[in-house]
Amino acid sequence: MPSNPLLHFITKVINIEDIKVVNYDFITEDEIVVEIQNQSKFSQCPRCGKTTNKTHQNHWYMVRDIPMSDYQVILKVNRRQLKCTECQKVFSEELSFVKTRRTYTNLM
Ligand SMILES: [Zn+2]
Repeated sequence: MPSNPLLHFITKVINIEDIKVVNYDFITEDEIVVEIQNQSKFSQCPRCGKTTNKTHQNHWYMVRDIPMSDYQVILKVNRRQLKCTECQKVFSEELSFVKTRRTYTNLM
């Protein structure tokens, strides 16, 4: 794992609220994949309204972000599927930045 100060720096540069950079990897000379995770652990069940943080499944996907200087940035995002402890409904957590950052291109 990369050092914490560097991850902290990348988190600052990426500048997305409520996320944490957990890893990064240069896939070519000028392309970097940055793994990010949602910081807010609890999500609300769309069926019964109870909040839960019980992860049912991790679901990673890749989106292209705004370039950093000369580097192409690809975000690897974990959008967790959660399971409601009350009504057992499985649902995807809300990721606020996916809505607000419209420069994204879905890669998969
Ligand atoms: Zn529920």
